[in-house]
Amino acid sequence: MNERKPKILIADDEQLFVQLMEATLQDEYELLFAFNSDEALEKANREVPDLILLDVVMAPKSGFDICHALKSERRTRDIPILFVTSSSTVTDEVKGLEMGAVDYITKPVSPPIVKARVRNHMELKQYKDKLERIAAEDVLTGLATRRRFEDILQSEWRRCRRQETPLSIAMLDIDYFKPFNDNYGHGAGDDCLRKVGRALSGEVKRAADLIARCGGEEFVCVMPDTDLDGASAFSHTVRKAVADLKVKHEYSDVTHHVTMSIGVATCIPSEGMDPFELVRRADEKLYDAKKGGRNRVESTNFEKKAE
Ligand code: GH3
Ligand code: MG
Ligand code: MG
Repeated sequence: MNERKPKILIADDEQLFVQLMEATLQDEYELLFAFNSDEALEKANREVPDLILLDVVMAPKSGFDICHALKSERRTRDIPILFVTSSSTVTDEVKGLEMGAVDYITKPVSPPIVKARVRNHMELKQYKDKLERIAAEDVLTGLATRRRFEDILQSEWRRCRRQETPLSIAMLDIDYFKPFNDNYGHGAGDDCLRKVGRALSGEVKRAADLIARCGGEEFVCVMPDTDLDGASAFSHTVRKAVADLKVKHEYSDVTHHVTMSIGVATCIPSEGMDPFELVRRADEKLYDAKKGGRNRVESTNFEKKAE
């Protein structure tokens, strides 16, 4: 089996301790070493290990400073940190744990205990990562979930606000999907959702765009750095791509195959505006598209109200 060994960074300036840890952990893990704080930070950022054994007393920065720096960066903040120290005082231990370290080990260490603790924390981390992946991915279509959409919406909102660039949202909903399900059955309904999902992701060309399934037969697309013209053009393309699938739907009042209605809203995020208000605007436009006959795109520029 060619499974990758989990990676551990051992950051400690005490040669003997590092050798002991190497002997204890090398069978199960790929080991990286850092003998001072700069090296520890550099390797943690470059390699993003699965776990770090971090000496509290290091130079020029302390283990606490390193921990703080790693916890403030998105790239490294989820790496479990186990502090290792010879000076065990309750205040130090509390400080370490409050900074987000997962455990605290006191020197002299017992190798089997270190091994067991490392294994426990590694398992917890892998379990946590798996849960996060599950929560972020829709099982039926493989698209992002609503939860992931909300995370991305908020971070892209902040970014567009800083850069004063427009952000667009498209809400997409399959037309007459209830009669589709009622007549062709739930299995055929699920197949249709998968096909539509593939058609939608096939049209997303920009790396920053995100398409998610909100639940049911509703989808949403976040388009950072995209103005109303761009977002409308994209939505027309998507509408056509779904219609071109020609998934048979004899019970639709629009035509004889599956279609979608799309509502688009755009704004340049600014102080006092709420990203979810933009989503509501896109939803209102979707409603207009439904009222206007379905299989169409409606869009609006969402302006901040004058005070
Ligand atoms: P409209 O054109 O106004 O959007 O009409 P509609 O029938 O699509 O809208 P409505 O929201 O009334 O119906 C949504 C239907 O979608 C209800 C249910 O039958 C179906 N549905 C929701 N979630 C799923 C799912 O996960 N799988 C399947 N197969 N069907 C689903
Ligand atoms: Mg619908
Ligand atoms: Mg619906």
